[in-house]
Amino acid sequence: MSDWIDDEKRRRDAGERRALDQSQHAAVNARYPGCTLEHCFICDEETGRAGRAEDSIYCCDCDLGPFCEHCIGIHQCTFGTEQFNR
Ligand SMILES: [Zn+2]
Ligand SMILES: [Zn+2]
Repeated sequence: MSDWIDDEKRRRDAGERRALDQSQHAAVNARYPGCTLEHCFICDEETGRAGRAEDSIYCCDCDLGPFCEHCIGIHQCTFGTEQFNR
């Protein structure tokens, strides 16, 4: 039996990466330590903080993330303004 975690491991072994949220990273790394590298959800670069959820960069206002250090620097937080955009 394999589940999505095994599927994810297979994909990553094949060089295929997709964005995972923090809890998914945690789940994959719990089974395959160090398997996933955390990727910035903006530019898809590695954040360099894989497997260390407590170090991940999330916007504390809008809760988006994870960011790499570059993208959090240029992040324009839309929290509270999005519904007013037309
Ligand atoms: Zn980035
Ligand atoms: Zn934000």
